Amino acid sequence: MTKTPLPGGQDSWQKPPVAMLAELTHRCPLQCPYCSNPRELSRRSDELSTKEWIDIFAQAARLGVLQLHLSGGEPTARKDLVDLIAAAREQGIYSNLITAGVLLTPDKIAAYKAAGLDHVQLSIQDSDPQNANRIGNHKGGHGKKLAAAAWVCEAGLPLTVNAVVHRQNLDHLQDIIELAASLNAHRLEIAHVQYYGWALQNIEALMPTAAQVEKANRLAAEAADVYRGRMVIDYVVPDYFARRPKRCMDGWGNQFFAITPRGLVLPCHAAETLTGLSFSSLREKSLEWIWREDPAFQRFRGTDWMAEPCRSCEFRDIDLGGCRCQAFALAGDAALTDPVCHLSPHHEKVVALAEAAASVQDVTYLYRR
Ligand code: SF4
Ligand code: SF4
Repeated sequence: MTKTPLPGGQDSWQKPPVAMLAELTHRCPLQCPYCSNPRELSRRSDELSTKEWIDIFAQAARLGVLQLHLSGGEPTARKDLVDLIAAAREQGIYSNLITAGVLLTPDKIAAYKAAGLDHVQLSIQDSDPQNANRIGNHKGGHGKKLAAAAWVCEAGLPLTVNAVVHRQNLDHLQDIIELAASLNAHRLEIAHVQYYGWALQNIEALMPTAAQVEKANRLAAEAADVYRGRMVIDYVVPDYFARRPKRCMDGWGNQFFAITPRGLVLPCHAAETLTGLSFSSLREKSLEWIWREDPAFQRFRGTDWMAEPCRSCEFRDIDLGGCRCQAFALAGDAALTDPVCHLSPHHEKVVALAEAAASVQDVTYLYRR
């Protein structure tokens, strides 16, 4: 095969990807207002079949993928999940189930474990049951999640609790941390909402105040010390309150890709929000071709695509200019500096947006439907 040089001679494509996110379905019993699924959800009839996913896992293993994150929507809504986990195990790929937990039963968990599942990541919406159920718009959901966490631990599977935080649950952060510890989580991921897609529609309801963020930063740091050796706490200062952006996805098309329910391969799970790029389907192209050759994957690899101020910035190899989806959502061009950066000419927009959104009272959610 003729090798297509990347723009500027970047060579990320020669490295194998480390991890893949398989969005098995967009179906989900919950309707979180910050859901990272696209506004246009895939229909069940368009979803990849069991056979197609099994073939993709084999392609992924040949390409060098080590970790598989089974996600959605709600991946346990797929009746063939046991077969998919077994296929990943057969290929020697470590599998992590990312679930809202409300469809789990002890029998299902036992079957997933027997098929070779390695890890479970369970999302919670809050420590307060009423507020949790309101955020997910799912009656009784919180109680089902607590039961699911216990079943996961009883089955001997390691558990990560994932808590997405925002203005309407951030005041409960200490309780959320204690709840995760009481559920015997090995790890707690405290993830501030990322504002694109559904979350951008709900920004006025979700944006925390500066005081909330300051307190949360302190609580998370204290908890990391308190729980050291018992529960790992992952916490990143939210973008809108940072001076520099984070190294998004560890680089575009560098270590990771996501596959949508209908088979599109994306360099990041939110990349479908970028209207200027066209992504390839595994129904038409091989995974290897997409990883090595797809122009959409090559577009933002490395640093040679950058314009000023990133191009001549001392941090360009560290943060890689931040998030392309955020640059597109806030500055209208995915090739610009992430406006979260204080050096971006659009940074004032971020500050104003955060302040305006956080000051709004009595807001209701536009639920994901
Ligand atoms: S964020 Fe909420 S609605 Fe979206 S897939 Fe996860 S649990 Fe379902
Ligand atoms: S200008 Fe670009 S490279 Fe420099 S800190 Fe900001 S986002 Fe990072």
